[in-house]
Amino acid sequence: MAELVGPRVYSCCHCRNHVCLHDDIISKAFQGRNGRAFLFSHAMNISMGPKEDRQLMTGLHTVADIYCRDCREVLGWKYERAFEESQKYKEGKFIFEKAKISDAIHLGTLGRKLASFFADESFRNPLLDQAIPLNLEVLRIQTEV
Ligand SMILES: [Zn+2]
Repeated sequence: MAELVGPRVYSCCHCRNHVCLHDDIISKAFQGRNGRAFLFSHAMNISMGPKEDRQLMTGLHTVADIYCRDCREVLGWKYERAFEESQKYKEGKFIFEKAKISDAIHLGTLGRKLASFFADESFRNPLLDQAIPLNLEVLRIQTEV
């Protein structure tokens, strides 16, 4: 069943812009400005503020705030440089504050693929004449066929 669904994505809490992938989580045990935060290896659809040195609980780091590219909400920060050897693994990684991102949802990649497949004239079927927005519906249709 794993192939039936797309990657799990987290979205900006404000505008639903997709900003990071569940598979890219390195740690969920981080502390942000507003509570819990997650460390990610990658981010997408964000823009970055200026680099600055910040004294964090785990020592001095050079960080840059990250913003949602669509609505400019501050979502967390990127670790540009860690000064202490034990913290070097964080360099180039991204912190997203849990309060600033929505719960991860699956992207329905197969749903879209199937919708375009059934949109082909040779597979015309009135029951399938509409776009298929949800994976659940894809599963239902497959069991009925
Ligand atoms: Zn946003």
